[in-house]
Amino acid sequence: MSENKEHFKCLIIGSGPAGYTAAVYAARAGLKPVLYTGPEMGGQLMITTDVENYPGYPDGIMGPQMMEDFRKQAERFGTDIRMEMITSVNFSGDVHDIITEGGTHLKADSVVIATGASAKWLGLDSEKRLTNKGVSACAVCDGFFFKGLDVAVVGGGDTAAEEATYLAKLCPKVHLLVRRDEMRASKIMQERVKNTENITIHWNTQTDEILGEEEVEGMRVVDTKTGEKREIPVKGFFVAIGHKPNTGIFKDFLDMDDAGYLITKADSTQTNVPGVFASGDAQDKHYRQAVTAAGTGCMAALEAERYLAAKGLV
Ligand code: NDP
Repeated sequence: MSENKEHFKCLIIGSGPAGYTAAVYAARAGLKPVLYTGPEMGGQLMITTDVENYPGYPDGIMGPQMMEDFRKQAERFGTDIRMEMITSVNFSGDVHDIITEGGTHLKADSVVIATGASAKWLGLDSEKRLTNKGVSACAVCDGFFFKGLDVAVVGGGDTAAEEATYLAKLCPKVHLLVRRDEMRASKIMQERVKNTENITIHWNTQTDEILGEEEVEGMRVVDTKTGEKREIPVKGFFVAIGHKPNTGIFKDFLDMDDAGYLITKADSTQTNVPGVFASGDAQDKHYRQAVTAAGTGCMAALEAERYLAAKGLV
């Protein structure tokens, strides 16, 4: 294990819209930030196709291209971008200790966490094969492409309920696949789903296989009570069984809720540890949009700058 002790004013963990935006602001403020990309450079947008709801792209943009643009902008102002994962941190001191996957020890006066969240998947081979070919984990991102087509949503929580009602405005029929005989979603969301005429709830229903070779053509579902299998034609298959924030490495130091979302002070990205700021989907379970993640990344960098200035470090 190397004992390289590079010391940074601002270290950013994560390379989605939050991380890159924090980098643009921190670099322009002269903090000479270093950004560790994590395992999925570009984050969740790398598994999205067209992004049509990010302001400034009137013709839309592909998710991976957008992240490339973000990266270039962060680099233009001097961000040191490193394609490596951070595997552990120690936030107990005044200066923060960070260890990379390769065993490099780093020190940072301020840390911006932008590690995002990962959509949970069912784990079917067909799901993997048809991702971006009709299988999606984001109705707001991809729903538009299924306008006028029948789709399915898997899940029984608030996300599934929200995605189903969103898609019901675009699609003639939405099949909601709920694995139990009740939904976990809040009452109000359940009512909304039940009162939407073109949503059909299939209770006690699990997905056996998503059908289609080049694109989604349907799904085979199984009734968990009777074991009976049947096929339903759909063109879009939305998995909404929850997200998992990528915050495991912070659990010994940072306050988080039961699901692992980092808790920040009101109207701020400040965590319970001074100098550690949390942005993007790692701390936001409500909006989860590229534009909101970018917004909190900006906030985190501005707060890091103020923190460092107050300590006389910049
Ligand atoms: P949840 O964990 O609340 O729900 C996940 C759902 O997916 C459950 O119904 C679960 O079933 C089902 N599920 C899990 N694994 C599988 C599987 N392998 N196959 C089939 N179904 C599966 O996640 P959400 O993303 O819905 O919500 C996360 C949090 O964010 C919640 O606290 C929610 O309230 C909040 N949220 C709030 C919103 C709002 O206020 N507008 C919008 C979106 C989310 P089971 O119930 O059987 O475990």
